[in-house]
Amino acid sequence: MSAPVVIVGTGLAGYNLAKEWRKLDSETPLLLISADDGRSYSKPMLSTGFGKNKDADGLVMAEVGAMAEQLKAEIRTHTRITGIDPGHKRLWIGEEAVPYRDLVLAWGAEPIRVPVAGDAEDAIFPINDLEDYARFRAAAAGKRRVLILGAGLIGCEFANDLRLGGLEVDVVAPCEQVMPGLLPAAAAAAVQAGLEGLGARFHLGPTLASLQHQGEALQAHLSDGTLIDCDLVVSAVGLRPRTALAAAAGLDINRGVMVDRQLRTSHANIFALGDCAEVDGLNLLYVMPLMSCARALAKTLAGEPTKVAYGPMPVTVKTPACPLVVSPPPLGRHGEWTVEGTGADIKALCRDADGALLGYALTGTAVQEKLALNKELPALLA
Ligand code: FAD
Repeated sequence: MSAPVVIVGTGLAGYNLAKEWRKLDSETPLLLISADDGRSYSKPMLSTGFGKNKDADGLVMAEVGAMAEQLKAEIRTHTRITGIDPGHKRLWIGEEAVPYRDLVLAWGAEPIRVPVAGDAEDAIFPINDLEDYARFRAAAAGKRRVLILGAGLIGCEFANDLRLGGLEVDVVAPCEQVMPGLLPAAAAAAVQAGLEGLGARFHLGPTLASLQHQGEALQAHLSDGTLIDCDLVVSAVGLRPRTALAAAAGLDINRGVMVDRQLRTSHANIFALGDCAEVDGLNLLYVMPLMSCARALAKTLAGEPTKVAYGPMPVTVKTPACPLVVSPPPLGRHGEWTVEGTGADIKALCRDADGALLGYALTGTAVQEKLALNKELPALLA
């Protein structure tokens, strides 16, 4: 039998690529390999699950057997690849060599861990996949107070969702505003005020100096001397694309695994997409870009080399306490922000020297203007 196309990862990138490719090629053998249980789920639902009172099983869209049947694929679960041998077109799972026709890396990004002094690192939970979510929900059963590390997009979404789920929420982050680097100050203030209106407490500026067990509970010591009593901690300090195995195999890496517009790495038969991939210099950790990549790469794998194009990629942030849509200016393009509105309803626009719209941040009722503004936004990869 001919060597299969191998996709490493069964997240949104791996599964959507497999679905798109199967529309074009239903015969070539396909093997998916996943470190997790291979159940299909939509990762964005991890930060709305508490408010909807959904456990991990409740977020599953399809069991692995159903995915294997739908995709006419073999799916190896709880299996971690440990190396790639591009010269011989094979990968390693421990001592086992697995040949491939083409290899696709869709192995995602991993949570950054910041070392914390004290004896309670075991009470810090990143939530980046379904298994993390299940672990966190189990630990949160019967608990009341959560400390969130990080006030970026994901930290704010969890603050909103955990409040909706009835938990007390404190957010700690060493920055002056929420979502620094993504939002201008007025929009950030609107989001913070919305979340505070829901009961979340923000501690912006200090870091978590130490975390100690204290009987059944925890005590967090912040670097400004503040003490916070809590029961568990969610870490939302950022993600780092997985690159180590690619680097060890001699593939070019930068922030992510570097690929060209055909999603091809520096090795001809190895491709990458999703959170692990840096596509023509862009490492975007969102769903829309990976869907565009999946459609383009499916064609390339089916024999029609195709470049990916990114249109505008606005992101709807799941903070219903203060609706927010943001489209940051493209990498390397600079402009001036202007801000209209007050309080919860902010329309912040970034324009270049010629007046062309580069990006926006819309909160509250201003969100309604997104469709009209989207028509003016530049494509991220034309
Ligand atoms: P992953 O889903 O992380 O999949 C990686 C896969 O690779 C997994 O199956 C893993 O088991 C496997 N793997 C890893 N290493 C190995 C190995 N060595 N061997 C074998 N398998 C391996 N984006 C939006 O656009 N909108 C949103 O509202 C939104 N909300 C989000 C909310 C949260 C809480 C989070 C964390 C992210 C959110 N995102 C959102 C981002 C979006 O979900 C991700 O960009 C996307 O899901 C990434 O998919 P992926 O398949 O690249 O990676």
